[in-house]
Amino acid sequence: MINFDYVKPSTQKAAIDALNKDASSQFIAGGTNLVDLMKRGVVSPEKLIDITNLPLKNIEQQKGFIRIGALALNSDVAEHELITKKLPLLSQALKAGASPQLRNMATVGGNMMQRTRCTYFYDLTMPCNKRQPGSGCGAIKGYNRMHAIFGASDKCIAVHPSDMCVALTALDATVVISSSKGDRRIPFADFHRLPGNNPEKDNNLQRGEMITAIEVPDNDVFTKNSLYVKIRDRASYAFALVSVAAALDIKGNTIVNARLAMGGVAHKPWRLTAAENFLKGKTISLENFKQAATIAMKDAKAYEHNNFKLRLAPNTIVETLKKVSGIT
Ligand SMILES: Cc1cc2nc3c(=O)[nH]c(=O)nc-3n(C[C@H](O)[C@H](O)[C@H](O)COP(=O)(O)OP(=O)(O)OC[C@H]3O[C@@H](n4cnc5c(N)ncnc54)[C@H](O)[C@@H]3O)c2cc1C
Ligand code: SF4
Repeated sequence: MINFDYVKPSTQKAAIDALNKDASSQFIAGGTNLVDLMKRGVVSPEKLIDITNLPLKNIEQQKGFIRIGALALNSDVAEHELITKKLPLLSQALKAGASPQLRNMATVGGNMMQRTRCTYFYDLTMPCNKRQPGSGCGAIKGYNRMHAIFGASDKCIAVHPSDMCVALTALDATVVISSSKGDRRIPFADFHRLPGNNPEKDNNLQRGEMITAIEVPDNDVFTKNSLYVKIRDRASYAFALVSVAAALDIKGNTIVNARLAMGGVAHKPWRLTAAENFLKGKTISLENFKQAATIAMKDAKAYEHNNFKLRLAPNTIVETLKKVSGIT
């Protein structure tokens, strides 16, 4: 364990100032990921800025969207009446993650920023371009069962581990980011990055910035028919092999609009835009769902040990769509 300083500011400005002042400082929220990374020596910040005193825990209805503070706990968000009633997909995804104890500590901002669970990233004896740029990738020719089938590069094939983020991608959320320059907003789907040549960068948050809230459109048409399905090795306390977040706007037997995203398959939550477009205006049928899954899998590429995802992923899409639309 390394020595580090610890501060706990009570205003957003003081926290951001502290981050700007010290190049080796880092925010800490619930600590459920960062402390593990520090214990294993994957990261070694010299100063931790504990942001849990900041007033960023509210979950509130605003005009046209629900605003969730970045420090709201995963458990509080999952159980909040506004979320269970209006955004059940988000509640389900949160409850599918980690364990009740972890969800009681983990925050929304921390969940978005959590690092990959690629075992080579955590193993200091192995090469990893994400941990140490230029060192190579242990997973490409290693044991890559949990790894990506979409959007990977020859530098990194890791996946983003969050469940919550898959639902937020499907729900067209917006990320509110604050810095000493003011606030900016980016679509949730643009927050996380593909690895490309810079797998050390997980997302587009810049140095000196803090996630302060998530805004999720309060879109009633997607509330009724939505579902998060997570396939994993154990029923709890395990990361997704593949997950699907689906929401359909259905009138009669017709799909007016569709929202689909996958987890466990890419370096970022993977939105299935082409499959969504295909489903628009189609009738509810197994044939259409199978075709949507085929379209979704168009650019998939497997590695030695994750070939099974090429079948698991489309099957999960089809099963989720069947359940959402009520066909057996
Ligand atoms: C055993 C285990 C199983 C798990 N299983 C799952 C699972 O199945 N599904 C799942 O989705 N997750 C799972 N998790 C991950 C868990 O959800 C994350 O560890 C948690 O969400 C991180 O939140 P935190 O508040 O504890 O973040 P911290 O550990 O405090 O911080 C993580 C990172 O976020 C940064 N950060 C935190 N808040 C902000 C902010 N507001 N602005 C900018 N940067 C910020 C920190 O600087 C740090 O880099 C699991 C974790 C463990 C340990
Ligand atoms: S897949 Fe990415 S995180 Fe895993 S070893 Fe390769 S570079 Fe590192």
